[in-house]
Amino acid sequence: MPERPKAKIIGSYIDLLDMNGVMEKIKTMIRDPGTQQIVTLNAEIAYLAQQDQLLQAIINSAGLVTPDGIGIVWAARLLGYEISNRVTGIELAYRVSEEAAKQGWKLFLLGAAPGIAKQAAYTLQQIYPGLQIVGSDHGYHNAQDMSAVIENINKLQPDILLVALGAPRQEFWIYEHKKDLEVRVCIGVGGSLDVIAGEKKRAPECFIKLNLEWMYRLLSEPNRIKRQICLPLFVGQVLKSKYLSR
Ligand code: UDP
Repeated sequence: MPERPKAKIIGSYIDLLDMNGVMEKIKTMIRDPGTQQIVTLNAEIAYLAQQDQLLQAIINSAGLVTPDGIGIVWAARLLGYEISNRVTGIELAYRVSEEAAKQGWKLFLLGAAPGIAKQAAYTLQQIYPGLQIVGSDHGYHNAQDMSAVIENINKLQPDILLVALGAPRQEFWIYEHKKDLEVRVCIGVGGSLDVIAGEKKRAPECFIKLNLEWMYRLLSEPNRIKRQICLPLFVGQVLKSKYLSR
């Protein structure tokens, strides 16, 4: 049984914390020894995890799992959990940067095409004066280069590593390399660096408020349909777990 209040949604445990609660938890992770993984979970990945034991184990062994998508919030409420709202990867990236500037935490940004992480670092430092981003790197290194990538991260001694390789690639990457990383917290933030760098646009506020961000992403990137096809399957599994399980 998990020791913190969590929602169990088709096999994945999600922390029932709002953004402030998540930030408090991150503060303790920075103080405590060891390297913690944070997963920002959406319905698509929760569905994939049901078919993939390793991914399920990664999610359920993470130090923190936040509800990134409205599908997760919907499912938690349907299953009777009290959950405030989404804590998305992009909002977490901004909030962590804001707090890092206040607390003196050092960040490293990893992921996206060459040049994007550097641009995102510049943008974040403009928004949050004093923010220390000690380094950045793109997300297209091959496996042979990975020990050099990790060595470079460790040399620069960040407290927090934002990993933007897309889900679930970033979840596997963090899990595989956690033991070699000398950082306190690794957070999977999906395509956030593209948005922060201005390379991609986040959905307009009205889509976000109406919880239709997924629809905006589908309209602006139609080939996401291959991934979003999981959404009705996720809904089916959640309904099955509510009404058909004993
Ligand atoms: N990406 C990467 N390395 C890869 C594949 C993808 O760094 O080998 C990056 C890609 O450039 C993009 C992000 O991962 O910045 C994936 O964005 P997407 O919006 O698909 O992720 P999601 O938010 O859906 O997890």
